[in-house]
Amino acid sequence: MRIFAATSRYVQGDAALDELGRHCKVLGRSALVITDADMARLLGDRVLASFKAADVACALEVFPGEITHAAITALAQDSLRFGADMVVGLGGGKALDTAKGVALKLGLRSISVPTIASNDGPASAAIAVYDDEHIMQDILHLPRNPDLVLVDTGVIANAPARFLRAGIGDAISKKFEAQACASAGALTLLGTPASLTGLMAADACYSIIRKHAAAALRAVEAKQVNNDLEALVEATVLLSTISFENGGLSVSHAIARGFSYLQRAKGTLHGDHVAYGLLVQLVLENRPLAFIEELIGFYHEIGLPTLLQDFGLLQPSNKEIRELAEKSMVSPSAARFSPPVDANQLEAAIKRVEQLGG
Ligand SMILES: [Zn+2]
Repeated sequence: MRIFAATSRYVQGDAALDELGRHCKVLGRSALVITDADMARLLGDRVLASFKAADVACALEVFPGEITHAAITALAQDSLRFGADMVVGLGGGKALDTAKGVALKLGLRSISVPTIASNDGPASAAIAVYDDEHIMQDILHLPRNPDLVLVDTGVIANAPARFLRAGIGDAISKKFEAQACASAGALTLLGTPASLTGLMAADACYSIIRKHAAAALRAVEAKQVNNDLEALVEATVLLSTISFENGGLSVSHAIARGFSYLQRAKGTLHGDHVAYGLLVQLVLENRPLAFIEELIGFYHEIGLPTLLQDFGLLQPSNKEIRELAEKSMVSPSAARFSPPVDANQLEAAIKRVEQLGG
């Protein structure tokens, strides 16, 4: 048995936001758009105009902060009052996951409109729910992937480059994580072995990043859209998600989970954690030194982290490294690796990365 899952429609391009209403019209008659205060101010008028032009009812709802069960419940009440039959998330991961949480709670259509490309969340069925301290509490799942993912590359080009860089970090590991799952005989998040489509998506994701990432980051630093940025965004928003849902996650993402417990790394981005986690995974895989060094050179070129000090952990203590290793084992992704790893091996691999990454 194999299962393949993905969003049913993906729309990407400069000024795509102005087409949002038209693409939503096939999904329903009334949209609740959940966004943060900044995006409401920057993009709210364009969103409302696009729904008006498509003759679809729309209400903007400003979402206050962290994605918690309480926030989802309160917004679900608003959605019921408005009579929405689709819920649109507009913004970063928190707004998108909150919108998905409301869609899940009420059984409505789900639409993701990311305004940064910092992770693989927008096209995914997964919803990460946190507590007020930003420690992950739950991962919920929509019964199907979002019905529509729409990415305006003009908006992405105007966001800070650090977000796109983190999106590259979250995507660059996927080929190696999918391969690790396949060689461990692990099942994907869909409960089956990886499909060939999933494995090929992960391969393509990596190739596109290696070819286009540097030029795409330069484009974003100049606030411009070019073909490199279009290619890179397709890899980091669409292929990255297809890769992990249909190929599986492994040690790179386990390490990323561990980072969320490190006090001194607070405020650093998930994608950067994954990029570092990939280096740890490659050490555990006993990859040739030349291979790892070449990848570290690429990280340096595009500004991805290679040392714990890049996350604010100047001179990381043995205790911090031990905590990172132990908390990483909390993640189910740590078990999708063969031969099985324990906290001691992760600790040794982290220390090796600290030697190599300078
Ligand atoms: Zn991720």
